[in-house]
Amino acid sequence: MIEIDGLRKQYHTAGGRTVEVLKGISLTVPAGSITAVVGPSGAGKSTLAKCISLLERPSSGSIRVNGEDLSRLSGAALRRERRAIGTVFQSSALLQRKTAWENVALPLEWLGVVPGEIKRHVGQLLESVGLSDKADSYPAQLSGGQRQRVGIARALALKPSVLLADEATSGLDPQATAAILLLLKQLRQQFGLSIILITHEMDVVRSTADAVAEIRDGQLVQQGPLQQLLSSP
Ligand code: ADP
Ligand code: ADP
Repeated sequence: MIEIDGLRKQYHTAGGRTVEVLKGISLTVPAGSITAVVGPSGAGKSTLAKCISLLERPSSGSIRVNGEDLSRLSGAALRRERRAIGTVFQSSALLQRKTAWENVALPLEWLGVVPGEIKRHVGQLLESVGLSDKADSYPAQLSGGQRQRVGIARALALKPSVLLADEATSGLDPQATAAILLLLKQLRQQFGLSIILITHEMDVVRSTADAVAEIRDGQLVQQGPLQQLLSSP
């Protein structure tokens, strides 16, 4: 599970001012559950996503995955622990000159996993996302939904316990969106993932999330089970 506690992020602008973009966010996502993070543009969702995926260092507060605080790490320890968090981006961010299979294999190659093990694991990952028959296709030969599946398989390659989906279905048609959301639900079940779904699409929240956290102006204004929030005024 992932536990975010008192997370703050400040930026120092060129003009010498300090802006506080995250003002003490606390959020827990248990293993096997899906929490949606919603809020208007400029609320701080992307900044939160960057802190969770350890691309940005929080100014203060902690991000614990399975009990360990990742926000204070650096160097080799940071690189090692980053594996605990898989990220899926809006545009799937695949390498265009590599096939689906090669894109999924990349994180394993960087880690120095032996070829036989890469072959076995990539095969399993492509099967998990329903793309075994597209292993040799290049991103340009795939639909938007299929590209996102490759992105999900790649995000899972290092067996993370947290999956962060940053607007992962934005830009997909309703059918492809529904299929991706169903896949995420299956994967959290299969691997006991904690899934954080950053989205501006309320249909996505309704159909998929167990809990919702709403951010406005860098603060958590509502947090709770889906039913409770949808029925509140
Ligand atoms: P959202 O994803 O909810 O639209 P962001 O996290 O992108 O929100 O941005 C939240 C606020 O933080 C915005 O007002 C934005 O201008 C500001 N911000 C984001 N990144 C930086 C940065 N590197 N330096 C200064 N301000 C930033
Ligand atoms: P093994 O050591 O045989 O890989 P594991 O229990 O680690 O055994 O996992 C079994 C299989 O399930 C793996 O080979 C992998 O394909 C898949 N798997 C396990 N955990 C995850 C995860 N968090 N994300 C993606 N795939 C996973």
